[in-house]
Amino acid sequence: MQFIDLARQYAVLKSEIDANIHSVLSRCSFISGPENDQLEQELARYVGVKHALCVSSGTDALLMPLLAWGIGPGDAVFTTPFSFFATAEVVALVGATPVFADIDIDSFNLDPAKLHAVIEKTLAEGRLRPRAIIPVDLFGHCADYDAIGRIAKHFGLLVLEDAAQGFGATSEGRKACSFGDSAATSFFPAKPLGCYGDGGAVFTDDDGLADALRSIRVHGQGHDKYENVRIGINGRLDSLQAAVLLPKLAAYDREIRRRDEIATRYTNHLAESLRTPTVAHGCTSVWAQYSVLAQSGEQRESILSRLRACDIPAMIYYARPLHLQKALAYLGYRQGDFPVAEDASRRIFSLPMHAYLEDAEVDCVATAVLSAL
Ligand SMILES: *Cc1c(COP(=O)(O)O)cnc(C)c1O
Repeated sequence: MQFIDLARQYAVLKSEIDANIHSVLSRCSFISGPENDQLEQELARYVGVKHALCVSSGTDALLMPLLAWGIGPGDAVFTTPFSFFATAEVVALVGATPVFADIDIDSFNLDPAKLHAVIEKTLAEGRLRPRAIIPVDLFGHCADYDAIGRIAKHFGLLVLEDAAQGFGATSEGRKACSFGDSAATSFFPAKPLGCYGDGGAVFTDDDGLADALRSIRVHGQGHDKYENVRIGINGRLDSLQAAVLLPKLAAYDREIRRRDEIATRYTNHLAESLRTPTVAHGCTSVWAQYSVLAQSGEQRESILSRLRACDIPAMIYYARPLHLQKALAYLGYRQGDFPVAEDASRRIFSLPMHAYLEDAEVDCVATAVLSAL
């Protein structure tokens, strides 16, 4: 069994993916081909925003709005300590300071009350200028954008949605990647919508921001390629990746429905014995991960060793919260600063999740988990 089985998906979508790849090869137009334009139109329509820009990775998709907004030294960007490293890394990369607020244990996402308190504390200290919030749609479930939006408005902050795991999720009928002032997603192969290499997209309704992002994507270009009006990056998506994504996007809603069935099946098996994931009222998840909380670190270890013995792959997202990562030690955080994130990192584990799991496989995973309790 695979944790994420890309081969099964390829077997189903092979004829369309192969045809699209061959059409790029036969044209030999590998950068900014017509596939990219088509993908951008389809992504913008899918999410319901004005602008979608395909870029080189989810990390670059997060970095580019920060560059466009001129966020840098002396600025505070508030985010969660319970995420993939890139969420905080991009803040540090532009010279700004990541400032963490603890998570809510039910959603694993930013706790709005704690976010509010951390922003007030930062303002009171007066050392950093609050500029933006990066909420993360962790495990495929939207953050609480109602509450976060109110906080952003109150303090005059920008919101950058990290939807690297959330593309396709909804909250109150709105799609992930449509929240905040800009949003970033990732098409890394293991994400719910993945390509065959690195890729990502940035979204916004703001025309001015979209223009700046287009320029930043190609070395800060002006009217033509050899006029540079700002500092940018090489942030383009390969045409081959766009060609792979088009048929995958067409199949995506069907895949999301199947992921949801699988999540429900896991929950039916496990909810009495473990803390299974919750979906907030009015929300749908794309189940980037199906993540369960054991009662203790020891219980998690016995479950994981039972799964290993049964050849069932399981993962821990995330074993070390960001405030305890060596690369961010200069921020001065300590063990105990974010007790909820630290507690989650000791007890959480994720089960195999992809749209091509069979019911019998889900049952087998759940049986193995239960047998360890
Ligand atoms: C994967 C991920 C990223 C980075 O995306 P890449 O495409 O790997 O650069 C950023 N944030 C979160 C929450 C992620 O899961």
